[in-house]
Amino acid sequence: MEYKKNDILTVTIEDMGIGGEGIGRVGGYTLFIKDAVIGDVVTCKIMKANKNYAYAKLEKVLTPSSVRVEPPCKYYRQCGGCQLQAMSYEAQLEYKQNKVRNNLIRIGGFEKEFVDRVTESIVGMDVPYYYRNKAQFPVGTDKEGNLITGFYAGRTHDIIANTDCALGVNDNRIILETVLGYMKENGITAYDEKTGEGLIRHILTRKGFTSGEIMVCLVVNTKKPLPCQDKLIDSLTRIPGMTSVSLNVNTERTNVIMGKEVRTIWGKDTITDTIRVRNTSDFSLTDKEISFQISPLSFYQVNPIQTEKLYSLALEYAGLTGQETVWDLYCGIGTISLFLASKARQVYGVEIVPQAIEDARKNAEINEIGNAEFFVGKAEEVLPEKYKKEGIHADVIVVDPPRKGCDEACLDTMLKMQPKRIVYVSCDSATLARDLKVLCAGGYEITKLRAVDQFGQTVHVETVVLMSRVEGK
Ligand code: SAH
Repeated sequence: MEYKKNDILTVTIEDMGIGGEGIGRVGGYTLFIKDAVIGDVVTCKIMKANKNYAYAKLEKVLTPSSVRVEPPCKYYRQCGGCQLQAMSYEAQLEYKQNKVRNNLIRIGGFEKEFVDRVTESIVGMDVPYYYRNKAQFPVGTDKEGNLITGFYAGRTHDIIANTDCALGVNDNRIILETVLGYMKENGITAYDEKTGEGLIRHILTRKGFTSGEIMVCLVVNTKKPLPCQDKLIDSLTRIPGMTSVSLNVNTERTNVIMGKEVRTIWGKDTITDTIRVRNTSDFSLTDKEISFQISPLSFYQVNPIQTEKLYSLALEYAGLTGQETVWDLYCGIGTISLFLASKARQVYGVEIVPQAIEDARKNAEINEIGNAEFFVGKAEEVLPEKYKKEGIHADVIVVDPPRKGCDEACLDTMLKMQPKRIVYVSCDSATLARDLKVLCAGGYEITKLRAVDQFGQTVHVETVVLMSRVEGK
């Protein structure tokens, strides 16, 4: 049977899609229902019908799933930043573990039994809320013209007023209220995307979880100082932990949040955070620490606690004894590279963003790490070039590519270099599965694999994989 727009159906949710939507079937017809949870029985209304499937809107939960929970954020359904808040955290972890497993089987072509044998249990968060160390809030006005800040409603540029996001740090609320208070008292306008006028565009906050240092950066539509800037500084610096207040100039009519120029108007240019190695059996802390200086423009992992676990696993998987030459491709500001350097003979990092490499070199210096060298460029160009010209060698290669995964030329050179081990850190298990297939065809096998939840309440999941070279191939 075929259905059409506005039809109302009752359906049991049997599965969850890659975007966190509930999936149910009526006869052979498949329904994708946002906000429905696996195990729910719901009524839904068809919004967009196709021959064999439709996208539908959740109308009513008739029988709630045993894993359904009350979402703590009242804007959960409008916002779209979180997709799984209505599901228990246990069920979220199971969903993520399954997502990785399914991709390895479907895209990677690996046998189910094999995947289950090499997979270690997913590493969850102790507290799956308030974990983000960074947030960016757009500033605007509501229908009555009141100044507001919060989040864009899913797939729109309408701002939902919310100073209390459940993923960010508690400090955000007071920071946002302080900035809004300053704007109201001094007649400071919010930027209007439609006209390109108005002053304040975004409020960026960052917190060093180990240092307690807070950074606030206002993205402004002017090159001049703000009117009554001293009053802003005076009220922001009363907030405990405030370390750096800056302005980022963005006068372009663009969706890109940050401009290139940052001007510190109070305190330091950077905040400090520390990443510590963890014992991978129980994730307790061990003494090795690496400090990072973070500026408003630096890339830095947003969930520092889970990042420590992820990197500690990558370090364990690398199996270093102190003798190895290690290449860390897609190294960002050198976070993994500097971890590796403590146990390797020499580490080489490659990263496409020049500013990130500058940060990586600075971070190596701050931590007095002399055995890490960094190169700017595309991994798929730097590695083949160095291999052809200098015949570079690697005992271990670590990769941590963006969602699109590794370029073929990069994988190809990795295979030619014949490292003993490859550690693949991935934020997208679909491209991971595709790349693992190529590496396995080229003489490697998966030894261990473990998912780490870096982003509770969302559908995203990180995975770390150890591959070993099969002798004789
Ligand atoms: N390992 C780092 C960064 C991982 S994010 C960390 O954990 O912090 C992926 C990084 O790959 C980004 O810094 C991005 O700028 C970089 N990148 C994207 N495409 C690249 C390419 N083709 N070659 C090298 N680096 C690339």
